[in-house]
Amino acid sequence: MDADRPVAKSGRTFDSAYSFSFSIVIGLVLFIAGLVISLTLGQGATVGLIFGIPLLIAGLVLPVFMMRDLFHHNEVNGACPFCGAPIKTSDATIRLNCPSCKRLIEVRETTLQPGE
Ligand SMILES: [Zn+2]
Repeated sequence: MDADRPVAKSGRTFDSAYSFSFSIVIGLVLFIAGLVISLTLGQGATVGLIFGIPLLIAGLVLPVFMMRDLFHHNEVNGACPFCGAPIKTSDATIRLNCPSCKRLIEVRETTLQPGE
């Protein structure tokens, strides 16, 4: 997509961006499908509305739901493995220095591990 984007942060940045675009596209497709169905079949029959309205709602709710899931995973809360100080970061961070004892901490998935 964006060739100028820095790739220093690991593949997770790409995954997040991909999931984000994917949820938008899915939502848009469902929304348009729901709109088309309710407009074409909706005249005189309730069939169009029965199929169209849930698709419209799904198209609006699904991206929000998927994005909320995406943001939920980005938050990492834990204790410093050296001194136990509370650390709040995101899993987009690969490593950081403890604000309390200044030692290196590695972020693996959602856990904080002692760095090299
Ligand atoms: Zn510490």
